Amino acid sequence: MKKIRAKTLNKIFDGLKNDPEKAVGSYLFRGYRVQVSKYNENGSERVLRLYNRRRKEGVCVICGKKVIKTNVYTKKKYRKCEKHRLQENNRG
Ligand SMILES: [Zn+2]
Repeated sequence: MKKIRAKTLNKIFDGLKNDPEKAVGSYLFRGYRVQVSKYNENGSERVLRLYNRRRKEGVCVICGKKVIKTNVYTKKKYRKCEKHRLQENNRG
């Protein structure tokens, strides 16, 4: 849970109006919990939404770190950061 100030609270509400995806989270405001989450969303939907958001933002789908390297074959950014990409390669 992220501790926030009034200013941030306003930002979250603005985000909710303009880009709800980005407002999603759990916040602590003056001892109160503010939760923004999609209604009636099950676990796998939540995972998929997070995955899609991270793909769109070009960050690692596992840890959310910025992906720098590009796949030379597809000319697209990798889905995972170096660490997680290497982990996957070692496993396979
Ligand atoms: Zn990663």
